[in-house]
Amino acid sequence: MLPPGSTIGILGGGQLGRMLAAAAARLGYRTHVYAPDRESVAAEVAAMHTRAAWDDEQRLAAFAAACDVVTFEFENVPVDTVRFLSGHVAVRPGAKSLEVAQDRLAEKAFVAGLGGRTAPFAAVPDRAALDAALAAIGTPAILKTVRMGYDGKGQARIASPDPADADAAWQAIGARAAILEGFVAFAHEFSVILVRGLDGETRVWDSPLNVHEAGILRASTLPPPPIVLDQQAEARALLAQVADALDYVGVLAGEFFATDAGPLFNEMAPRVHNSGHWTIEGAVASQFENHVRAVAGLPLGSTAVPRLPVTMHNLIGTDIDRVPDLLADGAAHVHHYGKTEVRPGRKLGHVTWVGPGAGPGVESEAAPR
Ligand code: AMP
Repeated sequence: MLPPGSTIGILGGGQLGRMLAAAAARLGYRTHVYAPDRESVAAEVAAMHTRAAWDDEQRLAAFAAACDVVTFEFENVPVDTVRFLSGHVAVRPGAKSLEVAQDRLAEKAFVAGLGGRTAPFAAVPDRAALDAALAAIGTPAILKTVRMGYDGKGQARIASPDPADADAAWQAIGARAAILEGFVAFAHEFSVILVRGLDGETRVWDSPLNVHEAGILRASTLPPPPIVLDQQAEARALLAQVADALDYVGVLAGEFFATDAGPLFNEMAPRVHNSGHWTIEGAVASQFENHVRAVAGLPLGSTAVPRLPVTMHNLIGTDIDRVPDLLADGAAHVHHYGKTEVRPGRKLGHVTWVGPGAGPGVESEAAPR
């Protein structure tokens, strides 16, 4: 158990790190953010900040020496960085979970190996392999880069077997190593967010319904529709198996499609997750608090949800201009991430409403404009 006053290192400087640092502070910990970026909204609320490259071993060693435990808020931290740090300080969760989650092929193969249901998929290391993959999987299909994809980036849909479609998709993703997935006709998208403690105890939050637009999460709502309630148990069991297999410590998120055949695993994130932001006000212990508790070796907090409904809307791009109106709604829990640059598709804040009569309600699946 890490005593209060200890320092938790956070790799990555975005809003997830900012909210982790705030949760750590509440439990009496100091945080030290390590990120290469010019702007770090996490560092603004942390005790210490190292701005250096992921491969700067001198700075990494100094960072490790200044921390009692290290975690990450960004799943594209190079695995070598985490391996290097692990030689100096405990890193939770470990390098293995990053390695699996950074590679869509390894991730799907890992989950399928545990008996999980996924979309049909095939490796596409080069353009020629795409033809064979299309012949095996058929259309419509989605071509995704194996690495560095997030928020719908690095993806292209292939509507027909026409080779021109395949060419266009291959170019659209930058002619890089990819995975071809069969297009899933899903009823809804939902996520499972769990936390696994240092002693292996696992707790899970209720699954929200997630609504995406152009590959970016727009809204998470609870309670979700009946099909999600029916399928969350199976999805939870699978994600718990994944966490055990990785000897995971911290918050792990899994994204699923609710289909007629049952829950289908899409991807996981070895970190706190956007679809869990509602837990800050909507659950007894938030994902951020429980992540800190887990990596610090504390007992986990309750994941119970005292009041329904809960609605979380992301503030993306110019949505941030709505903040004054949202602040005028006394029931809205407004989170502004403090980013200075407004860009289309950039997550700049979120807002959560909890309880009957608060906010737009769960009927509204799309966030208001
Ligand atoms: P991902 O980056 O894998 O989370 O994909 C972003 C979004 O694209 C998902 O949230 C889905 O809305 C959609 N998507 C991804 N994979 C598939 C698939 N195999 N079939 C249908 N839709 C998908």
